[in-house]
Amino acid sequence: MNSFHFPQSRGDVEALDAEDPLAHCRAAFALPEGVTYLVGHSLGPATQGALMALQRAADDGWVRDRVGAWNSANWIGLAEQVGAKLARLIGAGEREVLVCDSVSVNLYKLAASAQPLAAARRLVVEEDEFPTDQYILEGLSSMTGVELVRAAPGQGIAELKGGVLVKSLVNYRTGEVADVAADEAAAQAEGGLIVWDLSHATGVLDVRLKAWGARLAAGCTYKYLNGGPGAPAFVFVDEALAPELASPLPGWMGHARPFDFKSAYQPKEGAARFAAGTPPILSLAALDGALDIFQGLNMADVQQKARRLSQMCLVLAEKAGLKISCPIEADRRGGHISVRHCEGYAVVRAMHDWGIEADFRAPDTIRFGLSPLFLSYAEVWDAMQELTEILETRSWDKACYREKAVVT
Ligand SMILES: *Cc1c(COP(=O)(O)O)cnc(C)c1O
Repeated sequence: MNSFHFPQSRGDVEALDAEDPLAHCRAAFALPEGVTYLVGHSLGPATQGALMALQRAADDGWVRDRVGAWNSANWIGLAEQVGAKLARLIGAGEREVLVCDSVSVNLYKLAASAQPLAAARRLVVEEDEFPTDQYILEGLSSMTGVELVRAAPGQGIAELKGGVLVKSLVNYRTGEVADVAADEAAAQAEGGLIVWDLSHATGVLDVRLKAWGARLAAGCTYKYLNGGPGAPAFVFVDEALAPELASPLPGWMGHARPFDFKSAYQPKEGAARFAAGTPPILSLAALDGALDIFQGLNMADVQQKARRLSQMCLVLAEKAGLKISCPIEADRRGGHISVRHCEGYAVVRAMHDWGIEADFRAPDTIRFGLSPLFLSYAEVWDAMQELTEILETRSWDKACYREKAVVT
């Protein structure tokens, strides 16, 4: 952040945009004019690349080659191929990443397969962890009889004691970033294993799994990777550990030769052993196309812009009177900031009517996602001026804005 002079005026933000190495990426997104999309941390917007890849898979595969496309378009190898493409973005080797299932299912598969390798029969999750991570460990605990320990926020490593911990790299609510290298060193010293949840980190932070010593991870592709609604998630497995891991859901797609139709199970090499059933080809194709935008980008540039944008957003949100509930230092955060307002939901709904999309997490958290590939400094600056006006004029104070939708 050293060379970053905090902008004082709209002229300053225009100067930041003029020298932004990622400014060209915006044109690749199918985003309407007049919308400031601060929810890329929840559902990344469509890119032209994703839409074209989806159309191509439908036309050249499903329509033209039909079942033959499993071979002609290599649909059978697509989950591994897209995994290899994604690997570069998280500092992993090509055979260490497989795209499959949802984050929830992948957490289950990884934690279950890690447990027999850990020094202690013990599952650990922090109380402020994303709910699905907690539910999945609860389910695994009741299925296997392995004790589940609920650690206080930030105490997961202290409670690990040689067991298996599931932990987010970026906390979904506060945006706080964990120190993977330090946590891995502590876990390994006592024979424990960590399954990292990279959902809010992938595609926005400069993640270096191998360099940091991470061994197991799962993550999301429909957030900062813009893979599309419900796009399949991924698993990362350190290649040295992979041969020792047995998936608790050893479906035929994880078999070394599924079309031999043998009764005896022989898992694939590497992360691919975590495949279970037939992959969702159309979604995978869209994700494949979405990842093209990252080709040639330096993830350090992506992370730096996310942090500059989020720092600017945070300072302006605080000036507008919102209470900050994420770390103040940019390098302790992921790509979003969170603030609090007792009528947060109504504020988010009012912002929507002003063309600014943000999201709300009960009971009172508003999140602003600062996706660096399609947002400009000027756009975020303007959105925060409008938010200031919404708060000053209490434009959010209407009954219609308080009626909650199912998805917030
Ligand atoms: C978004 C998110 C998920 C998503 O889980 P799915 O099973 O893919 O729906 C999981 N964990 C965290 C921390 C998330 O932010």
